Amino acid sequence: MILRHDIDNSIEQALRVARVDAEAGCSASFFLRVHARGYNLLSLPSLEIIREMEDLGHEVQLHLEGGLCEVLGSDNEDWACRQREVFEAAVGRPLGGFSLHEPARMGGIDFADRIREQWSETVQYHAYEDRFMMPSMKYLSDSSGRWREGHFAEWLDKEPRMQVLTHPFWWFERVPAENY
Ligand SMILES: [Zn+2]
Repeated sequence: MILRHDIDNSIEQALRVARVDAEAGCSASFFLRVHARGYNLLSLPSLEIIREMEDLGHEVQLHLEGGLCEVLGSDNEDWACRQREVFEAAVGRPLGGFSLHEPARMGGIDFADRIREQWSETVQYHAYEDRFMMPSMKYLSDSSGRWREGHFAEWLDKEPRMQVLTHPFWWFERVPAENY
């Protein structure tokens, strides 16, 4: 099972999930944005959190997004390269993979395939490649905090391979007010 977390707006919530995963003996893949209003990837607290995630055995990669060109000009490809540069400046190593944030806004899977091809020297995958999706793998996501097809644990004996996506924003210990 591939356990994936897309970190849309709070890196502190991501760290909480990173610790939960590690305590359960899981290594997961975390995808971080560079344009989030809720965190600055280059701030010291963010850099420390990335370090801790990696020390816990997790993978940290880029949550790539489009749409800025609609306001600021140029195109999604140019903005993707800029995001990659900022991400690499933060982690101090080449980008190895990415997941799309709001895929429809940037030309969907076709765009991701194209940019991955362009970046193939270091980038080994994007999260929506065929080999990680149905029918190769059962894909389960917590969109809007709901497991539409049931919690992934219910699928353990039914599917040999799964990609499970969660967003830490939707999960809390006691009440949602912990998160927003
Ligand atoms: Zn996202």
